[in-house]
Amino acid sequence: MDSSEFPVIAMHKADNVAIVVTAGGLKAGAKVRKHPDAPLITLINAVPQGHKVALTDIKAGEPVTRYKVSIGIAKQNIQAGTWVHERLLEMPSARNFLNLPMATAKVPAADALTGYTFEGYRNSDGSVGTRNILAVTTTVQCVAGVVDLAVQKIKQDLLPLYPNVDDVVGIEHTYGCGVAIDAPDAIIPIRTLRNISLNPNFGNEVLVVSLGCEKLPPLRLLPPGSFPLTSEQGEGDGPHTVCLQDDQHVGFMSMLQHIVDSARPHLARLNARQRETVSASELVVGVQCGGSDAFSGVTANPIVGFATDLLVRAGATVMFSENTEVRDAVEQLTHRAQSVEVAQSIVRELSWYDQYLERGQADRSANTTPGNKVGGLSNIVEKAMGSIVKSGSMPIQHVLAPGEKLKPHQKGLVFAATPASDFICGTLQLAAGMNLHVFTTGRGTPYGLQACPVVKVATRTELAQRWHDLMDLNAGRVADGEISIEEGGWELFQLMLEVASGRQTWAEHWKLHNALVLFNPAPIT
Ligand code: CA
Repeated sequence: MDSSEFPVIAMHKADNVAIVVTAGGLKAGAKVRKHPDAPLITLINAVPQGHKVALTDIKAGEPVTRYKVSIGIAKQNIQAGTWVHERLLEMPSARNFLNLPMATAKVPAADALTGYTFEGYRNSDGSVGTRNILAVTTTVQCVAGVVDLAVQKIKQDLLPLYPNVDDVVGIEHTYGCGVAIDAPDAIIPIRTLRNISLNPNFGNEVLVVSLGCEKLPPLRLLPPGSFPLTSEQGEGDGPHTVCLQDDQHVGFMSMLQHIVDSARPHLARLNARQRETVSASELVVGVQCGGSDAFSGVTANPIVGFATDLLVRAGATVMFSENTEVRDAVEQLTHRAQSVEVAQSIVRELSWYDQYLERGQADRSANTTPGNKVGGLSNIVEKAMGSIVKSGSMPIQHVLAPGEKLKPHQKGLVFAATPASDFICGTLQLAAGMNLHVFTTGRGTPYGLQACPVVKVATRTELAQRWHDLMDLNAGRVADGEISIEEGGWELFQLMLEVASGRQTWAEHWKLHNALVLFNPAPIT
């Protein structure tokens, strides 16, 4: 490579565009080539980092190809060396759900990975926590202020007495009243809230604070039999509940004290637990991306995809989600489904979501953000092809509808259908039973969750260096030629086992927590 030649990355030999790797972008006149034997191309325009350059002349009406997939149709003739930005592309329409390949992929040969373990908290229902947290569930937003103060008081007065307990979390949300509670789609926020209360990181301890007059009373949120009983409870009991409107509460301090006192037996039981060595198969990992750029699909997401395959081979569970970011890859998903039933479930969820978007007079193209476009992602097709890489290469074994919880036998690769919104996706993955979260970002986000550690992976070295105390792993080293995707994948796999065993992520270190946001497609009243 002479001094005027710069590296670019093409994802597939069939691609007619490649992305510029150099920090700060390239000037007109810079020379690039697809591979060492390909002819040198001189840039006609300046091209920002992460953006696409045409590798050949592309005629108006011809597809622009990345990931061997058409990410758009050229609106005009594009000469080799041109900056291919979104304004030059017509987005292809979404594939319909007819004649999809259903469970047609050959299962990749992959040996089981054995001997990998982490130090976790075994729960009575058989699940394993990576953290030991007391959750205070709420039935309705009305109680949020009181619960917030009670949680502060529990942390201040009680937590020092129970050193094995990591944290106390108020499960606050905007649901519970002022909603059409019997509408068919109301099942989604209700089961989300129920299943979050049962997340493995909360040690099977359920404590509920209710108001008393709300539409979602404790027994509807957590009916008998829907949660594991403690030694103090009998068969048929409802959840341990503090109801603020009860006559016994005279004045604010009495309700506050009642919540604090109610926390004691739960804290005592959580505190008596120790971490124990468990198989890596007990991990339930949710993968997600946010603030994506063109490097997401080149560095960070392939590393996550490689680690996903390692986890699945180790017997663990990995969920990928984000409906609008997999919609354009529906063919790949149904192809990779383990059975026709699983493929049909994928279609069921994505077609329900198409209709949900249609009701709001939107479609999947509403997904991309201004930041995505500045980062080089022209449209949702290009973003989706880079996003889907997180799911690795193994067969898709199960599908969850929004807010559903994994059953104990549901191991391996899971498509958990959720919106792509970071907070809603994270909230629904928590409900599904996630005990570890992996999050890739190119533009940068300080995203974190209080209930679960979030391992953040930067797509570019520049971001990893600038946000050195927010990013947990730098996948930009792949673009820099320092590590391979395989090396990065193993590094992430080992990091996940360490974090699952108690090592803090940067988001935990700084206590960066985003709100839980329930997905409520049902009417508000
Ligand atoms: Ca997201």
